[in-house]
Amino acid sequence: MNNRPASCLDAFEADAISVDAAREIITNSINPISTSESVPIRECLKRYLANDVISPIDVPPHINSAMDGYALAGHDLPEKAPVDYKVSGSSFAGVPSKETYEPGTVVRIMTGGVMPAGTDTVIPQELVEKLDDHTIRLEAEHKAGQNVRYPGEDLALGKQIFEKGRKLSAADIGILASLGFAEMDVLVRPKVAFFSTGDELRSIGEVLKEGEIYDSNRYTLFSMLKNLDAEIIDLGVIPDTEEDIQKAFTQASEEADLFISTGGVSVGEADYIKPTLKLLGETHFWKLAMKPGRPLTYGTVNQAKFFGLPGNPVAVMVTFLQFVQPAINYLASGKHKKPIALKATSEEDIKKRPGRTEYIRGIFEQTPDGGFEVKRTGKQGSGILMSMSLANCFIHFDADSNGVNQGDSVEILPFEGVV
Ligand code: AMP
Ligand code: MG
Repeated sequence: MNNRPASCLDAFEADAISVDAAREIITNSINPISTSESVPIRECLKRYLANDVISPIDVPPHINSAMDGYALAGHDLPEKAPVDYKVSGSSFAGVPSKETYEPGTVVRIMTGGVMPAGTDTVIPQELVEKLDDHTIRLEAEHKAGQNVRYPGEDLALGKQIFEKGRKLSAADIGILASLGFAEMDVLVRPKVAFFSTGDELRSIGEVLKEGEIYDSNRYTLFSMLKNLDAEIIDLGVIPDTEEDIQKAFTQASEEADLFISTGGVSVGEADYIKPTLKLLGETHFWKLAMKPGRPLTYGTVNQAKFFGLPGNPVAVMVTFLQFVQPAINYLASGKHKKPIALKATSEEDIKKRPGRTEYIRGIFEQTPDGGFEVKRTGKQGSGILMSMSLANCFIHFDADSNGVNQGDSVEILPFEGVV
């Protein structure tokens, strides 16, 4: 860090708070959802468990074979020389053997077939010599007790399987099905509303007049929200008037637990987000020492949390991924998920002014030695959405950093789903 006094040409701004301070303010202001609802397990992917899950049964429920082969009592196995056995019955998955097992014989058994009473060992069919339809020969090389699955070996009756708050995966849902659960109590999903502001914005399908552009922010926001465990409310494009913005705030704060606007957050003449938040709610912060995304407003309106994101499309995505997404996840689960950070070698010099955290759009690749290298996507302007499209990670610089030289190590934050 240098010790020059801050000037208006610097990245320093007296009232801009640090990224870490902003994260703390957000977490401290949010009361995570605690109400739950019962949901069919097929709809439970990515939902958070409202209670611990205790196994109501043993899985598997019965002792069964792990292989296709022949079942017998281990103490009947040949000791020194090969022995021939009569095949005295069969046990298929779901069709247990009807006959009582006779010591000295074997029972034909399939994977998942119930082990007949008195047997404790399965010899896989590949290791058996079939003499005829009713007789097999076993070598003296087998161990007792092999290839058998015991009751409760996967999930035992009365055991805690999952802890309250767990985010359910596809495997988890399979486990819930194997325990016989049709429905699960999961936390209610947060309702998230969003709108764009800007008189220049037209919706898709409309013809652009001079000075107008299509609203892209609502589409990136919608797509990022789709990845999360939230109920989405799209409030459309709101014109740049005090009255319209106030109406949107009122509606969003009544319908949603958290709402998001894009644009109008600076101090231009048509920027009504800040004064509206001041009028209708409480402002927690409005400026961050961060690039991109410096004018990021956060506050509370009624019971709802509000994020006023910048208008520039890249700044929208960066601030969403860095602040809004973690806030929604925390609201939904009461937990923080730490993003994966990796070290990579920078393929180029990257200059940066100390004083603000930066999230540069990068492309990283694995090198033949198993490490990673990273380069920028090219132009980094916060209006150039292609830089996000091309990127597979952020290159993350702390506020103190003044950049790196080619060959130096940098921290990268891979986008979700990339690693
Ligand atoms: P603002 O913060 O409202 O001054 O907007 C900053 C820049 O982002 C301007 O160039 C806007 O035209 C652009 N912008 C704002 N909202 C959107 C949007 N929804 N879609 C695409 N560009 C936008
Ligand atoms: Mg605007």
